[in-house]
This record gives sequence, structure tokens and C-alpha cells, in this order.
Amino acid sequence: MIEFVSSDRCVQCTMCVKVCPTNVFDLGANKIPIIARQEDCQTCFICEAYCPVDALYVAPYADPLEVAPTEEHLVDNHLLGSWRETIGWGKGRIKLAAIDTTPFIDRILPVRRLE
Ligand code: SF4
Ligand code: SF4
Repeated sequence: MIEFVSSDRCVQCTMCVKVCPTNVFDLGANKIPIIARQEDCQTCFICEAYCPVDALYVAPYADPLEVAPTEEHLVDNHLLGSWRETIGWGKGRIKLAAIDTTPFIDRILPVRRLE
């Protein structure tokens, strides 16, 4: 569930507002997004993936955290934009698809039998 927007990092691109499929954000003062409807979050991580400056944190739980995280905690634990980093989005990062070894093609092709 979306937990945090860093107003320090945000560059007001409004991308997270546009890509969120359930309209969780409103634009606040200075075009910095506000988590206006956290309960509508689907934990899809799309906003975090699209944020160009790693200003968002989506926790991997469907329920809100019991204690709202602070920016200091998120920065110290390298959590802001951590999912985006995991999937390799962002300059200089290795895309997850490039290192994925899941044998997908073997699962969709028919089994080859020796004659
Ligand atoms: S995780 Fe998905 S549903 Fe939740 S705020 Fe981000 S884009 Fe919206
Ligand atoms: S995508 Fe990131 S930089 Fe852009 S408005 Fe949202 S939080 Fe700010």
C-alpha cells in the first residue's frame, strides 16, 4: 500500500497522479501529490515504478502500516523507490527482465518428443 510521498525529492511531474489506476492521489500545494485515498490503493507499485526521482514508497502489504513511516526511516533503510530499483527502472540500473531466468518459454511451448 502506498505509504509515503517525499516532498523533498518530488519534482512535481505529476506522473504518479496520472498512472495510478485507482486515483489515490490528489495534487496538493506546489503540485506535490497527496495520498488522498490510501484505502483505494491496490499495492500495484505502478506509481513508485514511474516516479523518476524515487520519491515514493509502496509497502508490500495490502493494509496500511501501523505506524506511518518517516522520511528519515525510509532513507536510512534505502526504501524510497526500492521497488523501482528492484525492477531495474531508472538510469544505470539492470532491468529485471535482463536477469530473469524463469524458463517461461518452456512452459508455453509443447513438449518436444523424440521420434
Ligand atoms: S500502488 Fe498502485 S494503486 Fe497504490 S497508489 Fe500507487 S499506483 Fe495507485
Ligand atoms: S511521480 Fe514522483 S516526482 Fe512525479 S509527482 Fe509523483 S512523487 Fe513527485
